[in-house]
Amino acid sequence: MEFLVRFWGTRGSIPTPGHATKRFGGNTSCVALTIDGVLIICDGGSGLRELGLHLTEQQKGPIEAHMFFSHMHWDHIQGFPFFVPAYSKDSKLYVYEVSKGEQRIKEMLHGQMSSDYFPVQFSDLGAQILSGNLESGSTSIDGVTIKSFEQHHPGRSYAYSFEKGGKKFVYATDNELDLTLLNREESLCNHATLRRGPAAFSDCIRDADLLVADGQYPDDEYPAKIGWGHARANTVVDAAIAANVKQCAIYHHDPMHSDSGVDSIVIAAQRRAELAGSPVTVFGAREGMTLKL
Ligand SMILES: [Zn+2]
Ligand SMILES: [Zn+2]
Repeated sequence: MEFLVRFWGTRGSIPTPGHATKRFGGNTSCVALTIDGVLIICDGGSGLRELGLHLTEQQKGPIEAHMFFSHMHWDHIQGFPFFVPAYSKDSKLYVYEVSKGEQRIKEMLHGQMSSDYFPVQFSDLGAQILSGNLESGSTSIDGVTIKSFEQHHPGRSYAYSFEKGGKKFVYATDNELDLTLLNREESLCNHATLRRGPAAFSDCIRDADLLVADGQYPDDEYPAKIGWGHARANTVVDAAIAANVKQCAIYHHDPMHSDSGVDSIVIAAQRRAELAGSPVTVFGAREGMTLKL
């Protein structure tokens, strides 16, 4: 079985091209999965543009893709108008949305292409843009089981798990896990204390072969950013350890953090896992990195 994961964008908030972000990458959120030939795309940040160019070059024809958006903040949709396969007749793009609340994903993709913001209209896209079925919060595509999980983020966001053939991948970005900790106060005073996350999140990520999770802040920076919707990397590591996750990618890097800033967050997170005696592999998500599960 083939289960490939490739990072096309790892940054949060805004693209940050330049020398200081060259190693981890400057494009905003986008991860592609290829599971036995099924193409699944998590988020459409600016990294989606390069994924589109890659697909066009590789496939030389229409594509079929299943798109899952964590939420509609700009850094998760801004690549969509530049996604070349969306202009190709005969391409089929399935857009999935959890049916809750007012936020309608297709309408919002539409909105960012209104004539005040963009020269091409959504209605002019050549591809068939279809609604995927995620009504009950879970679905299945060619044997891939997908479940969604509601997270803590301003305006709400969703995590998704993808499973097939005994392999499990979880995409959990833009989630302020720290707000949901059972020992939140204690964890803010004593950074060394084990952070106890909610059981529901543990269940969502349990036994994942790879968890890609928002770990934007180091412990010392977080107190000034409480309520901004993002987690401490060390909190994600504790959750990964508790849920028997095999690999944990720290994701959604802060636009204010250079490569060396991300390095120090990742090194601290790796050390935390080591001190806990956990076998989990912790690393920083890097644009262009491909993993085989
Ligand atoms: Zn974001
Ligand atoms: Zn967000």
